[in-house]
Formats: sequence, C-alpha cells, structure tokens
Amino acid sequence: MRILLKPVFTIDEVYAKCLAGVGDARLVASFQVILPAVSAHADLYDLKAGLSSLYELPQNTALNEDVILDGVTKKQLKSLYSQYMVPQEKPARIYYDLLIGMAPHGKCPYCGFGQASTLDHYLPKSKYPFFSILAANLVPSCKDCNTGKLAGVAVVASEQSIHPYYDSAIFVESQWLYARVEETHPPSVTYFVSPPLTWVEESKKRALKHFEDFKLAKRFSIEAADEISSISDSFSESIEYLDEQEVRRQLLRRSAAEFRKHKNSWKTALYQALASSNWYCSEGCRI
Ligand SMILES: [Zn+2]
Repeated sequence: MRILLKPVFTIDEVYAKCLAGVGDARLVASFQVILPAVSAHADLYDLKAGLSSLYELPQNTALNEDVILDGVTKKQLKSLYSQYMVPQEKPARIYYDLLIGMAPHGKCPYCGFGQASTLDHYLPKSKYPFFSILAANLVPSCKDCNTGKLAGVAVVASEQSIHPYYDSAIFVESQWLYARVEETHPPSVTYFVSPPLTWVEESKKRALKHFEDFKLAKRFSIEAADEISSISDSFSESIEYLDEQEVRRQLLRRSAAEFRKHKNSWKTALYQALASSNWYCSEGCRI
C-alpha cells in the first residue's frame, strides 16, 4: 500500500482536452452545457474524499442510454474517458499518461508490487459517471488490482478501501500487514492484517477491506513463494556454513531494510516472519 500526491489537474482542463478530441460539434455543445454541473460534482468529490466520506455520494442507477443531465446520456459521460481520454491519438491521452506516471517507481499503490500500467476509477464510472475523467478519481494501478478487485461499492465508511490520494498517512506510517510461516515443504507464508490497537475501528476495518478487495493474501503469498525459493542464494555464505543464529541475524537485517522502505510491503512481512520462526531459521531454510 502506497500513498500518492493528489493530482493537480483540474476537471476544467481535463474536460476541455477531452472535448478537443470530440468531432461532433453538437455533442461538444452538449458537453459544454453540463460543464458547471460536472465541475460541481468534482468539488463535492474533493470535499467528501477529504473527509473519507465518498461512500455518502449517491450511486447513479440510470441505464446507459438514459439522459442524466441536459441531453447528455450516461453512456456519453462515460465515453469521455473510454473514447476521448484513453485512445493514444486523442489530445487528453496526455493526462492518462501523466497520471500513470505519478506512481512512484512505476509501482501500483494498491498492492505495492505490480506495475502501474492502467488507471483505476476509485469510484467506478458505471455508478459514478460524473467522475469518469476526474483526475482525483483516477489512480494508477496494475492490471490485477484494476480488473481483479471485488466489484462492490462501499455503502458505509468502514467498507471503503484505502484511497491513495486522500487517505490518512496512518495506513503507511503504521504496520498492519504481517505474515506467519507455515511449516510446509517447501516453506510458505500466510499473510494477515493486524492493525495497531490504538486505531479507531473504522480504520482497522478499512485496512482489512483493502486487503480483501485486492485479494492481497493470495497475491502476496505467490510473490513470497518465489522469493523463498531463492532466499538461500542471498545469504552471505552457503547455507550449510550458517547456524540458526546467523540465519536469523541475516534475515533480521533484511527485514529492517525492507521496513525502512515500506512498512506494509509483502517483503517486510515475509522477512519478519522468517526471522521470527525458529523452525525456518533452524530447519526450513535448509529445505
Ligand atoms: Zn496492484
């Protein structure tokens, strides 16, 4: 999980760039008529997101062909993104690329290990068409997080996954992701969420929701299995020359280094779990 700086692009500038790619003059005129309303929705998004209350925004239940505002259909609002922002040849594509480029080191902020190669609508455009091209609602993400996440929309505060642009720094400043070693052959780990006891219940539930929505238990354990298979190559000497204490010491040093980078990465939790497992340090590391 990573926190990102909120994009500075205004809805007006992104909207204007999208309209520059619309060939139909009548459609452009229709879109221009509703700009004040779209802009007002953007202001409301910023206000609610800043209060971690996006769940309070009403979902749009209209059909795609329904007119939802001044002659503009729901489908047309959604098409601002799919037809006028995503295609390579459209002027607004520049914002698509700039937003993806905001992911630190190209990594997806939701999972922290996938490559950010798409934009995820934090609030899906199918239910929130007014936010289809709102930069603050477009999060650079990996394909697995974007297409594989659970589809439900939060209806209470505690059901909201973590918003990388708006949510409190506590989600990256405090450790809540952990793992435990399973004494299997080969060794494996199971990931779990254990937020600080000092957190309010809502934050605890949101960390767990994030973990579940993006199916991180399974995805992290797959990454960990690959890491474990090559861990013995990373020790300073061949494993047969190292005793249990030295194995633990080297794992602790690695876990401290990972912790300094990201407190809630799968690697931090993995190395902590391995170092604290007597079984792994004495026996499991030699399997
Ligand atoms: Zn991801």
